Amino acid sequence: MPVDIASLFAAADLRDPLIPLWAMELLASGFFYVWLFCLGATVGSFLNVVIYRLPRKKNLAHPGSYCPRCGHPIRLSDNIPILSWLWLGGRCRDCRGAISPRYFAVELTVASTFVLVLAAEHFLPPGSLGFPTRRRLTPLDTWPFWSMYLMHLVLVTTLIAAILIRADGFPVPVRLYFPTLAVSCFVPLLWPEIRSMPALANGALAPWQTATIDGLAGLCAGFAMGLGGYLAIHRSRGLAPIALGCSLGVVLGWQRAMIWSLPILLVAAMASYSLARFARSDLPNEPVPASDHIASPAADATSMASSNSSTHQMSPPLPPEGPDPP
Ligand SMILES: [Zn+2]
Repeated sequence: MPVDIASLFAAADLRDPLIPLWAMELLASGFFYVWLFCLGATVGSFLNVVIYRLPRKKNLAHPGSYCPRCGHPIRLSDNIPILSWLWLGGRCRDCRGAISPRYFAVELTVASTFVLVLAAEHFLPPGSLGFPTRRRLTPLDTWPFWSMYLMHLVLVTTLIAAILIRADGFPVPVRLYFPTLAVSCFVPLLWPEIRSMPALANGALAPWQTATIDGLAGLCAGFAMGLGGYLAIHRSRGLAPIALGCSLGVVLGWQRAMIWSLPILLVAAMASYSLARFARSDLPNEPVPASDHIASPAADATSMASSNSSTHQMSPPLPPEGPDPP
């Protein structure tokens, strides 16, 4: 018996959906945010590795995570961001040695950052950082919107890593800023509008020309701000202030960089100072001078080493001989 395909499809069209469309849209958004949170937790797990190994000039990929107390490699099933630390009660499965809550906290922070930055892209009104913008990008813009999100996300994640490296008492390696600089210099060549602030009031340039001018203006302003910071504080601590200034300039645009670089640096310095103080709270004889943190927010590696050797396992920013981060 012949089947009338067209009539079957017509009948399907007339059927009511199981749940209303608005609810399906809400559900899809919810799933997406949960997925983004999980992705952020995974990136946070990698950031733990970067924060621990990069300033110590260790390879980021090898060896894999292991417990230095018992030497046992961390099992894949014990390496699930956020959950594994909770499930194991912050202890190694094999020797029951304490694993710093810092790993858990960083994963949770970066996971939340992935969600919060996207929420900010959605809900912050245009011009909320003090200047009118080109135009507001929405997810309907697809590639430009997600590239803008990526650029902001890389910057914020890098700042989190920089704050924690300083809190540990290490100078921030300049190459920590390379991903931010690469993304923010090259991606706008495809979509200049992802930098919301035009450097010049112009209308007749090709997109790549506009992006180049915006990027160079941001780099120059950021370089000047960073150079000021470099000359004003400890020059021996490397060129990180200049790299940070350039990163802020090229992402935010020269106008915003001039206004926001200093507040961002102060907040970052206070954050790293607070983290170091919290980690050293059981070291009464080793206060960290406030001036050292504000000017260059951490003590040197020597004091870090001494804190590592004497700090209780559950509270330091890194475990004394703690397992390499998952
Ligand atoms: Zn162990």
